[in-house]
Amino acid sequence: MATAAPTRDGELIRRAVDLADLNALRVALYQNTRDAALAALPVAAKMSDADKALLKDKAVRWLEENAGRAERPDLPEPPEGELRALMTMVTGQPMSDVQFAARRDLPAFRAMPLAAEWPGDKPQIPSDFRVAIIGSGPAGIAAGVQCELLGLPYVVLDRQPEAGGTWTINRYPDIRVDTPSITYEFSFEKRYPWQELFNRGEAVREYLQHLSRKYGVMANSRFSHDVQGAAFDEARNCWVLDVETPEGRETLEASVVITACGTFANAAKPDIPGIEQFAGQIVHPAAWPQGLDLAGKRVAVIGNGSTGVQLLGAVAATAGHVTVVQRTPQWISPREGYGKPLPEELAWLYEHLPAYWNWARYTATAPLFDFHLLQRVDREWQAGGGKVSQGNDAVRATLIEYIRKETGGRQDLIDKLIPDYAPLSRRPVVDNDWYKSLTRDNVDLVTGSIARFTRDGLVMDDGSEVKAEVVITATGFDVLKYLLPARFTGLGGKDLHETWAAGDGPRAYLGMMVPGFPNMFMSYGPNSQPLTGGTGMPQWWLVWAAYAARCMMRLLQEGKGRVEVTQQAFDRYNQALDEAAKDWLQMTPEGGIEKNYYVNRDHRRLQVNAPWLSEDFHRMCTVVDWDDLALT
Ligand code: NAP
Repeated sequence: MATAAPTRDGELIRRAVDLADLNALRVALYQNTRDAALAALPVAAKMSDADKALLKDKAVRWLEENAGRAERPDLPEPPEGELRALMTMVTGQPMSDVQFAARRDLPAFRAMPLAAEWPGDKPQIPSDFRVAIIGSGPAGIAAGVQCELLGLPYVVLDRQPEAGGTWTINRYPDIRVDTPSITYEFSFEKRYPWQELFNRGEAVREYLQHLSRKYGVMANSRFSHDVQGAAFDEARNCWVLDVETPEGRETLEASVVITACGTFANAAKPDIPGIEQFAGQIVHPAAWPQGLDLAGKRVAVIGNGSTGVQLLGAVAATAGHVTVVQRTPQWISPREGYGKPLPEELAWLYEHLPAYWNWARYTATAPLFDFHLLQRVDREWQAGGGKVSQGNDAVRATLIEYIRKETGGRQDLIDKLIPDYAPLSRRPVVDNDWYKSLTRDNVDLVTGSIARFTRDGLVMDDGSEVKAEVVITATGFDVLKYLLPARFTGLGGKDLHETWAAGDGPRAYLGMMVPGFPNMFMSYGPNSQPLTGGTGMPQWWLVWAAYAARCMMRLLQEGKGRVEVTQQAFDRYNQALDEAAKDWLQMTPEGGIEKNYYVNRDHRRLQVNAPWLSEDFHRMCTVVDWDDLALT
């Protein structure tokens, strides 16, 4: 554990204050002291050296006097007006009411931020009412915790033998979160003692299992239970689930189904001719054989998305030789603190300066608030000779410089590594010494398309050969296969996937509901990943769980049997969604529309993301528009 014992050790305090985020430090200290001199300071970016010294000295003095106390309880949430003033103090920017509503739980003062609560007395829950949650990853745990809070009976079903979802499945070398740990955590679990600034997959898995146990979800979970299908029984208003269990086939009934199966559940295996002829081993990172020994072997890595980039360094450190096969260059950027332990001093500060952890969460997310400004094409800027927009072009220049630096100026590599589409149009890829690895003696980079597999490796389109004993296919996931292979049959025997296939791919209302499929909610469904300035996926899993909860509460309070989105609301929502999507970089030639798993290329429509500003989508998902739903 990275925490230090309570102390008045002046040196430790000074080091902690020196490492602290100054915006979080200022606001936390102000909340504890109400010192007007702190309120008068500007945001960190505008602080003079004297301002910084003043803030740090005040913090050191306060901690020397107070940090030795045996108990440092969390601070309660300030009254609304004060909370808003503090949030504004952190960024120095005013915010609209909608932005405030979407951001107020980021500092996580409330015990259970974002959770839905019974609006009045809890009604009698019918004895046969039960929720089935499919998936025990973070989305499933969020839904389970929400059911626990409301006292709703539920069961979590997962085909894996343990909880953790994607973090249980993906165990490839050097896997870790690529967003700061403090933003990839649930706000209801305060000050979890993470060890690293960006956690390893194993640590995230342990964390999720800890939550599942602590909040009672584990006790309601059934592992190695694979839901193969679910059909809605119209006479009894319940879902009948067909489940493959270690003891054989089981039928299970649930009033409501929440799917929490993840977007990246179906590995995309490359459809390359001749693959069956290959004499070596093919490994997809999502099914990494534990104990796979690459020592001295000739390895090819196909793919340079988040996964391929994350694993290359570790693979190259053991393999004899690695060929990286790149079809399309990616924009790959560094993250400060990536791969580094959480400094003991910061862990100490979280424990000893009340509200510092809360504001550190907020400041870690705040840089994303205006992110959307970088994801629009500015035609005026283009008319003046720019590529996309002033901000986006500046990011491009920075990243090109980064490529030059990391490759040691190797022009042969640089020429192959600069993408021809705009940065920030695809999912950002975080560097894990990928560029540096390309400069190793035992690594080479091959670009272009793969023509076919042979017995001994690969042949590229230009006829060149890549010899390999092991081919790692870091080729991503088939995001169009939402919920598959499970089949869902709704009203009138309607099959969900056939319905989607008859149209233009998976669609939903708010990413959650489909007409004809009552009492069914998808967490992280089609078009649900916030495109802009998102506030971290854990927040959204809570938001979607709370939406399903609000619908269930209404159903129970009104004694109704079904809740369903109306066809009109679904159509209206999706028309607006398509319209809104057009404006985003992802959907433009500048953004490389053809090269993006965010986009359904068969139908040229945005598929994975919600094209709304984060705060607007938050409002849609937290303030239920009952006119859009039918309760019968
Ligand atoms: P991905 O982003 O879809 O990347 C797949 C890569 O494989 C691309 O480089 C793609 O090239 C290449 N590829 C696919 N088929 C190919 C073929 N037939 N021939 C040659 N190249 C081929 O997949 P991913 O890297 O697994 O990442 C998916 C998502 O998982 C990420 O965006 C992220 O959301 C999540 N993830 C997160 C983390 C984390 O740290 N938190 C880590 C890993 C993944 P093209 O570009 O030419 O299509």
